[in-house]
Amino acid sequence: MRDALCLLAGRLPGQGPAAVASHRASCLRCQAAAARRRSLQRSLAALADEVAPAPAGLRDGVLARLEAQDAADPRRALVARAAARYAAAAGVVGATLVALAAGLARRHQRALG
Ligand SMILES: [Zn+2]
Repeated sequence: MRDALCLLAGRLPGQGPAAVASHRASCLRCQAAAARRRSLQRSLAALADEVAPAPAGLRDGVLARLEAQDAADPRRALVARAAARYAAAAGVVGATLVALAAGLARRHQRALG
C-alpha cells in the first residue's frame, strides 16, 4: 500500500487528496523524491538563459537535407506539400460522396421498381 501511495504522490500534481497529502508529509521516500524534483527544477531554471552554440556543420547539414526551394519564398516547398496533401484528402472525400450518391440512387431506383 505504501508503494501505491508513493506512486500516487509522485504522479498527482499539487497537494492532491488528503490521504496523499498526509502520506507526503510523513513518507521519507516521497520527501526525498520531491527534494530531487525541486533541485532538478532549479538546475533547469538556471539553464534558461544559457545559449548553447550549434555544433560546427549543423547548419550546412540541415540545408543539405532540405529539398530545393524557391529562393523568393523559402516556404514554397512546404506550401506545395500541404496543398498536395489537402488535394488528396479532398479527392478521397469526393470519391466517397460520389459512391454514397450512386448507392442512394441505386437504392431509390430499386424502390421505385
Ligand atoms: Zn511515499
